[in-house]
Amino acid sequence: MVNDTLLKAVERELKFRPLRLRFVNEVETRFEADTQRQRSRHMVVGGLISAIIYCLFLINDYSFRPDTFLTAVLLRAGVMLPIGLLILWWVYRGLSPLLRETLMASTVVIATMISCVIFSQSTAPYSYLDVFSFGLILLVGNIVYSLRFGYACASSAISLLIVLAFVLPYDPMPPEAKRLAMCTLIATALFTLAANHRFERSERTAYLHVLREKIRAGYYLKDNEKLSQLSQTDALTNLANRRQFDDMFLIRWQEAVEKKAHVGLIVIDIDHFKAYNDHYGHLQGDQCLRKVAMAMRANSRDADLVVRFGGEEFVVLIANASPESATSAAERIRCSVQALQIPNHGVSAQSVVTVSVGVAVLYPSVDLTPTELLSQADEALYEAKRQGRNRIWMANQADLPSGGGAVGGLSRSAQ
Ligand code: GH3
Ligand code: MG
Ligand code: MG
Repeated sequence: MVNDTLLKAVERELKFRPLRLRFVNEVETRFEADTQRQRSRHMVVGGLISAIIYCLFLINDYSFRPDTFLTAVLLRAGVMLPIGLLILWWVYRGLSPLLRETLMASTVVIATMISCVIFSQSTAPYSYLDVFSFGLILLVGNIVYSLRFGYACASSAISLLIVLAFVLPYDPMPPEAKRLAMCTLIATALFTLAANHRFERSERTAYLHVLREKIRAGYYLKDNEKLSQLSQTDALTNLANRRQFDDMFLIRWQEAVEKKAHVGLIVIDIDHFKAYNDHYGHLQGDQCLRKVAMAMRANSRDADLVVRFGGEEFVVLIANASPESATSAAERIRCSVQALQIPNHGVSAQSVVTVSVGVAVLYPSVDLTPTELLSQADEALYEAKRQGRNRIWMANQADLPSGGGAVGGLSRSAQ
């Protein structure tokens, strides 16, 4: 059902894709979890390339403002590079989305600040020309890193303010050049932010489509599980059905062969059920079947498979059975049905619904088949009926206690 809620949230996001890029919390968390690794790697690769280029600008520094070259080396390679590499290392190791975006955005701001310090320290006549290249720093944050839109906006705005703060009081720069440089920077910020927004939007939309397909696949998988569960369950009583029994019987048989353990089978049949049906009608007959089924399930161990075998016949497949444990399980079931005290006036005014039970337990061996055990239990059931009903009968065991009164043993050999 978690999938169901998530699917609805995804479909809502796809339908009403607002300007706001962030998804609702449950989808956002999934988005982050699914994309975080790849995003961090992408940022680290972009960051390393940008760091190299940032340092290569030293060639520029050397060629047209040699007076501050040493400062430039110190700031670019001695300050920016270590800070940048440290942040990239953290991002590579994995950080929360908030920290990752904040730190990466801060590299944009720090780089802008350092570049401003370098250009403003120089008295070289063309040092200010560098300001026209600062757009590249914004481009790195907004396009190369593809910072999440909010962070891209914030880092761009702060960077623009920093540049403005350095450019305005910088006398060697003509006012026309200041205007042009700031306009170029603002335009670069706007264009790259527009591209950033479009990129994040399409990245998120593509993710929603993929996620929807993934959930649907999982969802249908769950549906298939439900279907297969239905096909293994009896609709009237909710017990396991014959099909499930056939599968489990073979599995338990095989397990018992391997572990050299007993397999136990109890076959149960409601006594005089035709008379019950004839007297009370089929619908009430169904109700009676449900009650009997519930009593049997409630009085069996969880590990035992309680099966509606067909009609008013049930089977219990006993895990780790011994003749004693199977007999007491059978007796428990017989007593529990009798204890329901469901009147069966179809038989007589005093009669209640009871069951007859056949029990068989054996060591599986290579020369035996599972059907052998079933037919032994069936024969024992037949004998229980023959002996007067409302009793258990153990195949190949003599004199078993029975609340129904009679005790007995099937004279036939188990082998
Ligand atoms: P016995 O004590 O020898 O078992 O007698 P019985 O009447 O129980 O056995 P019989 O095989 O003659 O009749 C079984 C009856 O079970 C016949 C049928 O109407 C009824 N029955 C089988 N399946 C269902 C069912 O799904 N719902 C209802 N209401 N009755 C069912
Ligand atoms: Mg019957
Ligand atoms: Mg029957």
